[in-house]
Amino acid sequence: MSFLSERMRTVQPSPTMEISTKARVLKAAGEDIIGLGLGEPDFDTPNHIIEAATTAMHNGETRYTATNGTPQLREAIRDKFKRDNDLEYSIDQIHVSCGGKPIIFNAMMATLNPGDEVIIPAPYWVSYPDITRLFGAVPVIVDCPQSNEFKITPEQLEAAITDKTKWFILNSPSNPTGAAYSREDLEALAQVLLKKPHVLILSDDIYEHLIYDDFKFYNIVNVEPRLYNRTLTMNGVSKAYCMTGWRLGFAGGPDELIQGMTKVQSQSISHTSSISQAAAVAALNGDHSFISTNNMAFKERRNLVVEKLNNVVGISCAMPQGAFYAYPSCKALIGKHTQDGKEIRNDEDFVSFLLEAEGVSVMHGSAFGLSPHFRVSYAASTELLEEACARIHRFCETLV
Ligand code: PMP
Ligand code: GLU
Repeated sequence: MSFLSERMRTVQPSPTMEISTKARVLKAAGEDIIGLGLGEPDFDTPNHIIEAATTAMHNGETRYTATNGTPQLREAIRDKFKRDNDLEYSIDQIHVSCGGKPIIFNAMMATLNPGDEVIIPAPYWVSYPDITRLFGAVPVIVDCPQSNEFKITPEQLEAAITDKTKWFILNSPSNPTGAAYSREDLEALAQVLLKKPHVLILSDDIYEHLIYDDFKFYNIVNVEPRLYNRTLTMNGVSKAYCMTGWRLGFAGGPDELIQGMTKVQSQSISHTSSISQAAAVAALNGDHSFISTNNMAFKERRNLVVEKLNNVVGISCAMPQGAFYAYPSCKALIGKHTQDGKEIRNDEDFVSFLLEAEGVSVMHGSAFGLSPHFRVSYAASTELLEEACARIHRFCETLV
């Protein structure tokens, strides 16, 4: 007999968090591991943000705050939405939590009834389906293969919507593919959504600043303002501001939804750390020039990884437009054998044998709902990426 609730049977632990723990343990045991499994910037949090946090601590900003964050932070977020996204929210339309992940969790808990459906284009970020299942709702996975540039088409979206659809999750630039939706792509999706007024839209914009080659980022509300009243725009400081460990995410959206999410949070975590909130004020209001410096480094790394991987026989890698992930296909390697005779039956085997043979940790595509692929996070130094690609090359060359 298990102590755990029925719902725990429907949910898997986050594979990205698991793989990073595994790589950390192997490294601590002295193994020569290159961890490209977890998606987080390798750059440190900029100094001015750290200083704002220490000043806040010395100034006594060490107590409970409002559930939705300090007024200073909500003002900074309101200003950010206006400045970066041309979106107008009042202070009361802003929700703050300890990361983008809890924002999604709060939104789903506040809205989903058992049997509701959530449309999730695949490949997807690992947590969307499991958070959906936690509340007895049904993830409706729509396959978006490389031949579709990993993007959902308006026809696919229309076909997936039923009377039970509660949410459509849109993540651009995307984790795990780096695919990004252009203005035209969004306009076409918006046309479908306008005809289905019962569908809420979760726009996960957490990689909005990590875009390359002059790609212009838009939120779907920019191209279709009539979706404003049913779009939750989620974002946070984890990625662009190199603050994954500070745990701070935020969202702007319709009053009723934000109130529901706030109620959930008031009965769970109360609020995110007061110190992280002070740091986020400095991040959002302060100097942003480091973002473009970091982007130049990410772009070089992206080019390097895509070029090197495409030189490996059996791997084919599309050019990502944003985020810091590449999502190569290893289809041509399925059915091959390692030197010690193990058959690569799927992408999970591929990543696990690669880790054993060469100490390179990447994520299997099945975790993101589209196989046979693997995800490489290129948020690592050029030296490490060169070494990792050389090892992947060596591993694939020895397959028979
Ligand atoms: N959405 C996407 C697409 C992500 O990749 C992540 C990465 N963690 C999150 C949300 C959650 O971010 P956070 O670390 O702020 O919880
Ligand atoms: N989003 C990152 C990733 O996909 C961090 C881990 C997580 O939050 O799942 O690797």
